[in-house]
Amino acid sequence: MLKEIETVRDTVPGFTGVISDLGGPTANMYRLACKSREIESACRKPSCVFPGICPNLNTDHAPLIELYRKARALPGIKKVLIASGVRYDLAIESPEYVKELAQHHVGGYLKIAPEAISEGPLSKMMKPGIGTYDRFKELFDRYSKEAGKQQYLIPYFIAAHPGTTDEDMLELALWLKKNGFRADQVQAFLPSPMATATAMYHSGKNPLRRVTRSSEEVVVPRGLKVRRLHKAFLRYHDANNWPLLREALRRMGRADLIGPGKQHLVPPWQPAGTGMLAEGSRARGDVRKHGGASAAPFRTQHTGLPDGHRKGRP
Ligand code: SF4
Repeated sequence: MLKEIETVRDTVPGFTGVISDLGGPTANMYRLACKSREIESACRKPSCVFPGICPNLNTDHAPLIELYRKARALPGIKKVLIASGVRYDLAIESPEYVKELAQHHVGGYLKIAPEAISEGPLSKMMKPGIGTYDRFKELFDRYSKEAGKQQYLIPYFIAAHPGTTDEDMLELALWLKKNGFRADQVQAFLPSPMATATAMYHSGKNPLRRVTRSSEEVVVPRGLKVRRLHKAFLRYHDANNWPLLREALRRMGRADLIGPGKQHLVPPWQPAGTGMLAEGSRARGDVRKHGGASAAPFRTQHTGLPDGHRKGRP
């Protein structure tokens, strides 16, 4: 990798000294692997990190930290950024890594992908609970502040993933509002080949979890109406979505969330000229193909970022 950086430096015309991403499908799984090849070859677990990090998984980030340090010390290299997805559940195992990342390798914003906050969808994605995100954020904020840097996490979420109920999306919308996030674009799940979530989408069952003698039943948000609603929850701040959200909140027995206050999700009024946008064109415009592992670009009040995140399999 160091040689590759030198090659880029020496051969790319107009190279500015900035490496835009020193990562891969996942930013921080360099040299992380099962402690024993023998154990690994006999292992039948579908994930090394879910429902918790396997005690046999080596989570030592020291080789990666060393690589970062060597990369940024190369002559002619001004900055090495990390733009790949960070497995924050693994990163919090190494506060020193988070420190290195926050203080030297983030250009103001770091995209990460909690994808959901409720146990229902998270368990289908085999992803950690939102408490893990909170712990990562705490470390990220602390080390950014220590370095005198104003930096922000940009969390990504997805609508209509198998295992997601309307209540899960409402909980997420309230979380987004509480934390001051507004999605620029949103993505809804679309089944694609070779994804476990696709099997769930088609069968309504979770092939990874058995309950008594058959696979766990999975609720699947299917059809335009429910997909549109789940996306609307992600963009609760868009007035065009308010009629749909008001209708859903009343149906869900949560009319208490309609009102003018900060504690409400949507106001009771409708600004002139909104709420009548052709739903079909909106749906076509911002849903992209998705294989069960990805994301919705969000922004804080400060900025928005293009979608470019990918996540590797642990
Ligand atoms: S889950 Fe992963 S780390 Fe744990 S024993 Fe299996 S292969 Fe090894």
